Amino acid sequence: SARAGIVVTGTEVLTGRVADRNGPWLAEQLRLLGVDVGHVVVVGDRPEDLRAALGFMAGTGVTLVITSGGLGPTADDLTAQVVGDVQGRPSVVDHALEQRITAIVERLMARRGWRADPAATAAGVRKQAQVPEGATVLEPVGTAPGLVVPPGEGRDGPTVLVLPGPPSELQGMWPAAVAAPAMRVALAGSEELRQETVRLWGTLEAQLALTLRRHEEDLGGLEITTCLRDGELEIVTRFPPSAQPAYERLGTVLADEYADTLFSTGPTLDELVARGFADRGWTVATGESCTGGLLAARLTERPGSSAWVLGGVTAYANSAKEQLLDVPAEVLAEHGAVSPEVAVALAEGARSRFGADVGVGITGVAGPDGGTADKPVGTVHLCVAGPDGSAARALRLPGTRSAVRERSVTMAMHLLRS
Ligand code: ATP
Ligand code: MG
Repeated sequence: SARAGIVVTGTEVLTGRVADRNGPWLAEQLRLLGVDVGHVVVVGDRPEDLRAALGFMAGTGVTLVITSGGLGPTADDLTAQVVGDVQGRPSVVDHALEQRITAIVERLMARRGWRADPAATAAGVRKQAQVPEGATVLEPVGTAPGLVVPPGEGRDGPTVLVLPGPPSELQGMWPAAVAAPAMRVALAGSEELRQETVRLWGTLEAQLALTLRRHEEDLGGLEITTCLRDGELEIVTRFPPSAQPAYERLGTVLADEYADTLFSTGPTLDELVARGFADRGWTVATGESCTGGLLAARLTERPGSSAWVLGGVTAYANSAKEQLLDVPAEVLAEHGAVSPEVAVALAEGARSRFGADVGVGITGVAGPDGGTADKPVGTVHLCVAGPDGSAARALRLPGTRSAVRERSVTMAMHLLRS
């Protein structure tokens, strides 16, 4: 199938002043087209580094290389020229393009009330209208045109698609780029792949790796990637339609061996929670101590959550727990604020104060200080109280204050989905 490489240019991206948004976006678009991406390379604004990156990409045997950035009017924007050189296509001025860019620039300047030196403007436009001979021009979204530059006469190697750096311009130009006839050769043989996601909660990546190795022979044709994020093991499988039976075998293996941790064959945790409440017609309210409202924030992140989230109380001080959520003073005195009993009382308090079907209580020691021998930093108690009874968890979480808080919220979400 078709393979592509991506070269992101820009010293601001290389140095981390601007986070790269083009590499990941392009990789995702290509994936949707069934084009495999082997490398995303970031280079600064030095022509020799871009030249080397293009050489490297050609050496990987790809049929398509996409560049982003370096198409501006200034002298340090050299992508079009370098690509032309590498492809053996010397640059020539496209006079019709020059006129179109001039019109765009004049319109922009008039709108912003700029008064620029006409000679300098003309030089910038002239530079942007320099196009490798035989390249296809993609109309500017901003002022810079995109280019499809096939290898020059008698050469082989990848076609290079040259796109502007500003993400909105690059994305705006993408449909025209994909539709360009000159791209057909580069995209030939691409086959739309299916992609499926399975999510496990509480399985180690190494454990899964062993399972996959044991069943390796049954899983041919599948590209399986695993990612451990926030305690959740995400298994993404890509495969051509012909590997559907192998994918079904993988499904059986996972269902057999990870029945207790497999919680989703598609939707995210947050989607599952939202669906669960929508399906039952239930409402929820939160009583949070150590997470300071993070659970309420997460629940309300989704549009439409007002249908089932009634609200929440951040009850940090004991007095707030007593006054706002009716946690009995005796319970606080006897068990301490970080205790299963207080988690239950917070959940019940939130439930009754808000008149919700389900209440959630969270209390814990997020750290880095405040831990004791029997309640070290990372001790968190959670309770979800609902019409069908309640579920509780006592956790000892590792990590920083923010990690403990984030993980507590995720655990609460898992209690809410079940
Ligand atoms: P122009 O110089 O005309 O704006 P250009 O094609 O030369 O266009 P660059 O100079 O490389 O583009 O980038 C212009 C701006 O676009 C950068 O300063 C940056 O803010 C943004 N940008 C460029 N590349 C990226 C990227 N990979 N990810 C996110 N933002 C980017
Ligand atoms: Mg630039």
